[in-house]
Amino acid sequence: MQAEQQRSNDAGDEYSRYVGRTASVARPGLDPVNAPMIRHWCEAMGDRHPSYREGPGQVAPPAMLQAWTMAGLSVDLQRAGAYGELLTDLDAAGFTSVVATDCEQEYLRPLRPGDRVVSDAVVESVSPLKRTALGEGHFVTTRTEIKVAGEVAGTHRFRILKFRPREGGSKKSGEDRASRAPRGLRPRPVVNRDNACFWDGISEGRLLYQRCSDCRRARLPWLPGCPGCGSDRWTAEESSGRGTVYSRVVVHHPLPPAFPGPYSVALVELAEGVRLVSNVVGVPPEEVAIGTPVRVSYQRCDEELTLPLFVPVDAPQPLRLPITRTRIVAGAIASRDYQDVHHDAEAARAKGSPDIFMNILTTNGLVGRYATDWAGPGAELRRIAIRLGVPAYPGDELELTGRVTARHREGGSADGSADDSAAGREYAELAVTGTVSIGTHVSGTVTLALPEGGAGAEGTGVSA
Ligand code: ZN
Repeated sequence: MQAEQQRSNDAGDEYSRYVGRTASVARPGLDPVNAPMIRHWCEAMGDRHPSYREGPGQVAPPAMLQAWTMAGLSVDLQRAGAYGELLTDLDAAGFTSVVATDCEQEYLRPLRPGDRVVSDAVVESVSPLKRTALGEGHFVTTRTEIKVAGEVAGTHRFRILKFRPREGGSKKSGEDRASRAPRGLRPRPVVNRDNACFWDGISEGRLLYQRCSDCRRARLPWLPGCPGCGSDRWTAEESSGRGTVYSRVVVHHPLPPAFPGPYSVALVELAEGVRLVSNVVGVPPEEVAIGTPVRVSYQRCDEELTLPLFVPVDAPQPLRLPITRTRIVAGAIASRDYQDVHHDAEAARAKGSPDIFMNILTTNGLVGRYATDWAGPGAELRRIAIRLGVPAYPGDELELTGRVTARHREGGSADGSADDSAAGREYAELAVTGTVSIGTHVSGTVTLALPEGGAGAEGTGVSA
């Protein structure tokens, strides 16, 4: 930051005069917080958090914070004031394309239907000229305070890159397409007469093991005969799917094509006493320890393959979302982002992108959904800070994974009037990563107030 500032001054950068200038003052949102926009947002994000449902006590998804301040399709409020002048200056200098790179939101109080939002915004920084993968440009950071009835409901720090699109966009887009080949497929299991029942069970979401009908010994993997007494009579029993890591290794090299990075291979001892070789996912592989309590998580690897993998009992389960055109467009419109690169493929190509791509507010909303899906119905988002990496294009798949990096208790209401218990409220910090086939699409952290009784223990069975 210091270095950036220094270089900015050395360059006598013409844009530094915008820093600290007011971008907007007490600008009212176009609409009060309202149930229809909330519903559209929840549909676009696939967010079924009960607090967002219409009815008494409904609150807006916190990640919608910026949506309430956005311009309409025909009203270009974003171009007002000093911020508008800055963008116009950048356009004139050839930095005509824009992409959002960072979004940091803090939620201080919930927004409810009927709340009338006003926002104040300031240009926080303008970077010196930077070379990026997209082209040369300047990062512009704004900070917005969103208020209701004079009270700050949340803050929103937003960074965009205003850049000059590269020449020869069509050639580049061809390269991009080539590099977006689907991930290599995972190796197929060998399914034979002796273990077909096991794989039938997996396809139904049941983890089955065998029990000898004669000596009652349990066994896994599946075998035609009992290793204890040799009997070929057996019955299938269903495991609870709970267990602990008995032993584990981390594979660094060589990585099969289906594995983008190091991964953990674990021998899991199930509660029923049998053991199974699998992967532990949902946490960095180096954090998988002997004795870690885990539960089974059926993961659909591709069209034909579902595998019984394991996640730590309190870890968020990975969430895989197909990125369809509909999801991208629905998310953009639900967040009131009418930038053409999020809905118009021709316009996106003209601006150097191979296709439309997901807008940052949708990514932000999905990260928020992922966090509350994990934490459960009573959870409240307090902060989301994300940085975007590679774009999410139609036809790809977004896989969100998370791990709990901290938990702490706060508050403890002295007067007993707060809605939190006397012991205070428990908070969790979640590191979230979203990957697509070409790399990391998003990384960030989420802070949540947890429901009473903690989070994750029940598993919320998130799905697309
Ligand atoms: Zn036996």
